[in-house]
Amino acid sequence: MSFHSLGLSTPLLKAIDKQGYTTPSPIQQKAIPLILEGKDVLASAQTGTGKTAGFTLPMLQILSQEQHLSRRPIRALVLTPTRELAAQVHQSVILYGEFLDIKSAVIFGGVNQTPQERVIRKGVDVLIATPGRLLDLQNQGLLSLAKIEILVLDEADRMLDMGFLRDIKKILALIPSRRQNLLFSATFSKEIKNLANDFLHHPVLIEA
Ligand code: AMP
Repeated sequence: MSFHSLGLSTPLLKAIDKQGYTTPSPIQQKAIPLILEGKDVLASAQTGTGKTAGFTLPMLQILSQEQHLSRRPIRALVLTPTRELAAQVHQSVILYGEFLDIKSAVIFGGVNQTPQERVIRKGVDVLIATPGRLLDLQNQGLLSLAKIEILVLDEADRMLDMGFLRDIKKILALIPSRRQNLLFSATFSKEIKNLANDFLHHPVLIEA
């Protein structure tokens, strides 16, 4: 099994090659083709399984297929429970998107929001965010979620453990209902299943 056979485009294959990855991990083998097909995915995956590339690579490919260069509305939103994870996902988006014309930004709480505002104002295709700061900026009218095509909930179980369910529901209400949804979680509690039922559309279930 190669990355090429998963249907990834040349700029992404080049970035993968630069990272020295030779073989897609099991979660990547399963998730990448399904996400490229536009399916909603419910994935059980621990950290260290390569899950980040598993959603980032196909997300970047979908975004690069249609360009919105003039006004770059936010088209993909990745929600994470912590600023550390948000920063890591952002690094992956930068690494894997090196040969594509995709702009991204990361926002999280606990730091001055002005630099985050400035980056968003310039226009980004992909936003990686923790839920609280995202809602803060949205409430201040500093960003619009009206053009989101892809929503990723990363480490959804940790988001629920940290009490983000209310914020997640508020965010879901702000984004278009016609979109692709990806939910990654290490565990599948009743709460995660309820959340998945609420917002995934005929999801394909995959396990790493
Ligand atoms: P993650 O589970 O997404 O946090 O990824 C864990 C680590 O595996 C990261 O440091 C990635 O750079 C690395 N990685 C992801 N996919 C592959 C792959 N197919 N081959 C080798 N390393 C990988």
